[in-house]
Amino acid sequence: MESKLALWVKEQQTDNLALSCRVSKVLHREKTPFQDMAVVDTLQYGRMLVLDNIIQTTVGDEFVYHEMITHVALNTHPSPKRVLVIGGGDGGAVREIVKHTSIEKVVHCEIDGAVIEVAKKYLPEISCALDNPKVEIIIDDGIKHVRENKKTYDVIVVDSPDPIGPAEGLFSAGFYEDLAAALKDDGIFVAQTESPFINRDLIPRLYRDIAGIFPITRLFLANVPTYPGGLWSFTMGSKKYDPLGVDREKIPELKTRYYSPAIHQACFVLPPFVQELLK
Ligand code: SAM
Repeated sequence: MESKLALWVKEQQTDNLALSCRVSKVLHREKTPFQDMAVVDTLQYGRMLVLDNIIQTTVGDEFVYHEMITHVALNTHPSPKRVLVIGGGDGGAVREIVKHTSIEKVVHCEIDGAVIEVAKKYLPEISCALDNPKVEIIIDDGIKHVRENKKTYDVIVVDSPDPIGPAEGLFSAGFYEDLAAALKDDGIFVAQTESPFINRDLIPRLYRDIAGIFPITRLFLANVPTYPGGLWSFTMGSKKYDPLGVDREKIPELKTRYYSPAIHQACFVLPPFVQELLK
């Protein structure tokens, strides 16, 4: 007989909005020194990582976010060799980065080692490249790491959670200045910058801060159904290369499900309500 027990994970996204997913199994629950972590199986999006009651990633839709936070910047740089990922403990960004043949080293700086361990155990589809010999994992605060490393990276990917707790500083002007110093003279950084429906004060502030430091600042969009509002923004700060100037024909073939050369161009086409935010 089918159980009548209905278990749901509910993310309270604003005071007036929540996203709920029906859960078939709770696989892991742990209070780490940094956050309350859970891994659950959901019926709609498959396995899900939850931190402090906020959905981080699901096997069902993660490819959109991880492909977009990596390939747009990596294909803007003509030959990225050394890449830093800040956050991203699930390993999805690293998995996409190692698809690029020019890559020599990926430094993955995650503050909470427990997230990496749990991702390796329960999310093998996402974490599968964390043992790649090109990947060095550092368990530390990304803010500290960029302060201590100058002119080191071709590309930096800031795969952070929402701007609360240890991630708050990853959304500050001081941090963007440190990122600029940690990049080589033609370096690029990209960060997830939240929802244009929900975070209407944060996005313009971040865009202004980044544009005050980097000569080229571009915001782009993708659809991530489990993130608040569904439409998600990413912002790129670049010292030299403009993602809009990339020749579509020269973008290498990658095994991707959302990103493509056409998406590389199309993701920068902003609806007027998003353009309005950046004025
Ligand atoms: N894609 C997700 C999202 O948009 O919600 C983010 C996923 S990833 C799991 C975020 C990771 O950033 C978490 O594992 C968290 O521990 C890590 N993190 C938070 N603050 C950090 C910091 N200051 N330095 C390095 N990692 C940090």
